[in-house]
Amino acid sequence: MNNQQYELIIGWLYPKLMSTYGDRGNVTTIQRRSQWREFDVKIIPLDQAATAEDIKSVDIIVGGGAQDRQQEIVMRDLQGAKADAMREKLDHGTPGVFTCGSPQLLGHYYEPGAGQRIDGLGILDLVSIHPGENTKRCIGNLVIEVTATKLARELKEMTGTTPYLVGFENHGGRTKLGKVEALGKVVYGLGNNGEDGTEGAFYQNAIATYSHGPLLPKNPFVADWLIQTALRQKYQQPIHLSPIEDKLAIQAREAMFKRLKVETINSR
Ligand code: GLN
Repeated sequence: MNNQQYELIIGWLYPKLMSTYGDRGNVTTIQRRSQWREFDVKIIPLDQAATAEDIKSVDIIVGGGAQDRQQEIVMRDLQGAKADAMREKLDHGTPGVFTCGSPQLLGHYYEPGAGQRIDGLGILDLVSIHPGENTKRCIGNLVIEVTATKLARELKEMTGTTPYLVGFENHGGRTKLGKVEALGKVVYGLGNNGEDGTEGAFYQNAIATYSHGPLLPKNPFVADWLIQTALRQKYQQPIHLSPIEDKLAIQAREAMFKRLKVETINSR
């Protein structure tokens, strides 16, 4: 098979409601890095008009951040058959990247600073609570070392180095993990709650993080991991990804490590 015969369908959760801080860049990065390898790419919005069948048809799911009000609209819409389809996809290893408000809605619930607790999908064993509008938001640059066992191992195999992610966080909610594995440990910034040193969560092949940036252009090897995992899941065989020249992204990462005085072990 040549690469044009491989197709990747990206499901984009509520593009109009959940795209704060440039999170749409995650969709573009997956799209472009797939197209540069000549894979065929489709993007499907998974919004109010989408059906459970639409959710079932996608190979990668991307969800961005949202303000509390938009997040509530989404959490109320993503119920019933659509919620079941999401659960089934993530339980069965469909890869995805979920930023900020999205992991909150994949957890058991989100308690906004004002107003009622909103039920989430309960796919990730975590809860998120905003301590109130007078509490300081968690804002600033974020660097984490990926520690989720499978992901850390696979990223290391791909890059030959310890995986560090660079990003930017801006959230009021504080997340506490239950039995789900953390995505990583905070090297710089606040992460899930500013207390326990954890950042994000990793479940099957779903990456949940507070890292905007957007995440993938700053950490392109994670986009490649998502593409590779999606292709392997779909075609049941490993498909080679040709290398892409990422010099500028690597330089940007190095500049950030330097600026934040972050010591990385053997990173690139
Ligand atoms: N509403 C959530 C919070 O403030 C998420 C914010 C975001 O997605 N940037 O915690």
